[in-house]
Amino acid sequence: MTAAGRRLADVAVTGGRISAIAEQLPAAAGTREIDATGLLVLPGMVDVHTHTRVATDDQPDRFFADSVAAAYGGTTTFLAFNNPGTGSEQTGSLPTDIAAWRRQTDSDSAVDYGLSLVLQPMHTDLAHEIPAAIDAGVPTFKAFMVYDFALSDVAIAAALRATVDHDGLLNVHGEDRAVLEANIARLHAEGKTAPRYHADSRPAYVEADGTRKAIEMARGVGAPLYVVHVSSAAALAEVRRARAVSQPVFAETCPHFLALDESRYELPDEDCARFIISPPLRSAADRAALWDGLADGSLDLVATDHVPDSLAVDKQTWRESFDRISNGAPGIETLLAVVYSEGVVRGRITLERMVDALCTTPARLFGLNLKGAIEVGRDADIVLFDPTERRTLRAAELHHSSDYTPYEGIETSGVVRSVMVRGEFVIRDGRFVGRRGFGKFCERRLAWR
Ligand code: MN
Ligand code: MN
Repeated sequence: MTAAGRRLADVAVTGGRISAIAEQLPAAAGTREIDATGLLVLPGMVDVHTHTRVATDDQPDRFFADSVAAAYGGTTTFLAFNNPGTGSEQTGSLPTDIAAWRRQTDSDSAVDYGLSLVLQPMHTDLAHEIPAAIDAGVPTFKAFMVYDFALSDVAIAAALRATVDHDGLLNVHGEDRAVLEANIARLHAEGKTAPRYHADSRPAYVEADGTRKAIEMARGVGAPLYVVHVSSAAALAEVRRARAVSQPVFAETCPHFLALDESRYELPDEDCARFIISPPLRSAADRAALWDGLADGSLDLVATDHVPDSLAVDKQTWRESFDRISNGAPGIETLLAVVYSEGVVRGRITLERMVDALCTTPARLFGLNLKGAIEVGRDADIVLFDPTERRTLRAAELHHSSDYTPYEGIETSGVVRSVMVRGEFVIRDGRFVGRRGFGKFCERRLAWR
């Protein structure tokens, strides 16, 4: 499978790269042959939005576990953000942050991985440090407009200027902070603190306002912009408006917005807490609009926004108030299963569009220039996928470092049989056969800039 089409062919792998593709390749001496008859041969998924947590003395296996989970799900490369809460060292300097994170994750991943830097108020020299980070192979950055590490407008403008001048790309979490905080204060004043009010504090206009503002700031300095986790028809409309006038605005949505909706907030409080993510789950109409946007290319790609929160610890604060609950849900292992089942099987997108949105476009946009396609010269990151088998998602059967999945009990089509990273099996016949530290840190360069 490629983003452009499908055909029956042999794929040759030499030295970890794809070396030939042809209808019939000769079996050379010393060649190992893998029979993929009846299976889809997909490029490995490229997940550009995760908040995996680095190893600590107390939890030495959590980064490794999530990399193994990625492999089980067919993801062969993931990018992580080093935001507070991931255990990443916060040094106040971007180049030093890169060095620290690389040390903290060194020899710990089963699949290939990379870093997107989170910009924080403590980073006071973005004009110099962003170019230095780009030179060090980290050309993508994230600015939050909300949370206690939100960037000021001045800092966002500085980041946009530095990325346009040095071939970087700024990712923005677009929500309007002032409106959000006013909503939270109003709900508190009304005594509304239960988890479900999380959604009431962040209606779609909070997201659309933040998204529009980020788009206008990027337009002002002529910078490309990447909008993370578009969840609503209103925010999607802002993205479409910018693209209609050829502004370089790129946008992602996430599997939870494509598969779930706000009806989850009617569940009892403790169950409701599982779905405290930002932006929140939206209406069925929003979900349908996102599928349309993904099909017509207004949304470039799907990434997970994986946060390995646990019910046992991170979500327990639901008892205090909705705004005290850690935001996020695990998803690193379920990307392909959810998008294939909800998208391809239900006829909302083609298989080619799925490969484009989960593999080829994320690799291209984020400068993973050897990833994302089954093409001669690229890394042999390959998934053998059986589209006929069905499976019910259960947290107990997943491998991620979280203790739940928002997709509990959902029926999916297709299972990952085997996964190769650079020509080596990491998953074989449904079993992990890889090794800790096999995954390489990917230095990236945005060739499309
Ligand atoms: Mn976010
Ligand atoms: Mn995120």
